[in-house]
Amino acid sequence: MAVPKQRTAKSRRDRRRSHHALKAKNIVQCSNCGEMRLPHRVCPNCGHYKGREVVEIEE
Ligand SMILES: [Zn+2]
Repeated sequence: MAVPKQRTAKSRRDRRRSHHALKAKNIVQCSNCGEMRLPHRVCPNCGHYKGREVVEIEE
């Protein structure tokens, strides 16, 4: 098994992780029901996409 030759310094480790933060997800309003949803996805509330129902929603 490969083993690191040198210990990673705290500063180097933390500098590497400085890019690891997650960004907030983009959300848009559904044109059919007004619910907030992810862009380019079928609406989870009403099942509509591009102005027509594509997925049946059960109560
Ligand atoms: Zn909707």
